Amino acid sequence: MKLKNPELLQQANYWDGLWRQSATGEFIEVANPSTRMVIGKVPRVSRAEVASAITAAEQAFISWRQQTAQKRGQILRGWSELLLQHQEDLAEIMTSEQGKPLAEAKGEVRYAASYLQWFSEEAVRNYGDIIPAQKPGQKILVQKQPIGVCACITPWNFPIAMLARKVAAALAAGCTVVAKPAELTPFSALALALLGERAGVPAGVFNVITGDSAAIGDEFTENPIVRKISFTGSTRVGKLLQQKSATNLTKLSLELGGNAPLIIFDDADLDLAVKGAIAAKFRNAGQTCVCVNRLLVQRTVYEQVMQKLDGAVAELKVGDGHQEGVKIGPLINQSAVEKFIRHFDDAMEKGAKLICGDGKSDNLFIKPVLLADAKPNMLFCREETFAPLLAAIPFDTEEEAIQLANDTPYGLAAYFYSNNVQRIMRVSDAIESGMIGVNETAISNAAAPFGGVKWSGYGREGSRYGMDEYLTIKYVLMG
Ligand code: NAP
Repeated sequence: MKLKNPELLQQANYWDGLWRQSATGEFIEVANPSTRMVIGKVPRVSRAEVASAITAAEQAFISWRQQTAQKRGQILRGWSELLLQHQEDLAEIMTSEQGKPLAEAKGEVRYAASYLQWFSEEAVRNYGDIIPAQKPGQKILVQKQPIGVCACITPWNFPIAMLARKVAAALAAGCTVVAKPAELTPFSALALALLGERAGVPAGVFNVITGDSAAIGDEFTENPIVRKISFTGSTRVGKLLQQKSATNLTKLSLELGGNAPLIIFDDADLDLAVKGAIAAKFRNAGQTCVCVNRLLVQRTVYEQVMQKLDGAVAELKVGDGHQEGVKIGPLINQSAVEKFIRHFDDAMEKGAKLICGDGKSDNLFIKPVLLADAKPNMLFCREETFAPLLAAIPFDTEEEAIQLANDTPYGLAAYFYSNNVQRIMRVSDAIESGMIGVNETAISNAAAPFGGVKWSGYGREGSRYGMDEYLTIKYVLMG
């Protein structure tokens, strides 16, 4: 890894303001998915160390919550600026540990910085209410207070942004955080901590630990100091955390898996729709929670759309994310490749037609696949594929498209293309999804509430709603 600032690659954990090696002497090796070479290692913490980090966050909470919102905002703003200053190095770290193309990695760093910036501005807008009382001489005051110590668990697919959007809202609200990044991509989170330290985040306010996820999850759910867990990851682990959080009634936000439909109606701008579908399917090699997983195309324009898609998919260059012009990096690991092959084979067995790609893997690299004539009974319609496989299902009527779109236990993102304003209103009302892109697939930004319904979880990140997740409402009756 060629870094202008090599100290950004931290192979230690950070809590209570100190960089620490593992007390257990055990480590987790981190490999580059493009080369499969080990790029570094991070400590595997013991459960006692997790508890120490939580206690440090509890201590830090006492003074952090007392800071003025302006001061907290100022620190977050400085942190955001440091991310932008170091975006080249942060992108290099991310591409090396996660595999995504450098241009996408840089985009993710800027996206992460945008959350720190947004919440630096929201910190000062944590307004309460004064409500007319029901008895003369009284006043009802409503005040929003930070919930306390928060545990944040993040996945490998957006190693810096998923953490930044949690920590920005939590710190703006006056909470302190213990974060656990995915073991496959811990270096981006540790670099974020280093820049936080430089931006003036006080000791104990933001802590990052790495190690065995089940043990850390158990400490997070069983330690009564933790008042809130914000989790981004699979629905399987989200459900597990919900069960375990019953012990302390720990408040949860769950940003879980998706199974996004993209519908192209025959009154749509087809070129725009194809462009949107390609961007939303193949970003991060198809490994995003808001990825198009099911493409639904109205039969009257089906052939036209498939032709346009064929040309566009065939152009996508696959390779090491460090290489110029690469649009699709490797998948994260072998089990991701196996899932792709399972979905591909299942679709082919059930009668899909191969238009582009070959369904084979070369190490962790996969040529993007386009399938036509897919059917709702195929495996990819039931589970996230999380790989560069785009399969199109033809449909006839609007009602059928809505029925197909909603035929999933998930409800994170959905997209559709149409130029008929009445249809736009009807379809956006009818689709069961936390987020809907109409004639647009780049839906995520700091000003908008990100989150799902059904098995995609609950809670929102970003926007003015994002800070509510880290606040409790206190009502004071003034007699
Ligand atoms: P995952 O297996 O659920 O892992 C997510 C995080 O949870 C990782 O840090 C993982 O640690 C940790 N974890 C695993 N088991 C745990 C346990 N028993 N207790 C506590 N933590 C545990 O998901 P993933 O495969 O990494 O991520 C992909 C999933 O995330 C997809 O389903 C995707 O849709 C979803 N996602 C959702 C959003 C959203 O905003 N809705 C955004 C991005 C991704 P280790 O990896 O170290 O084991």
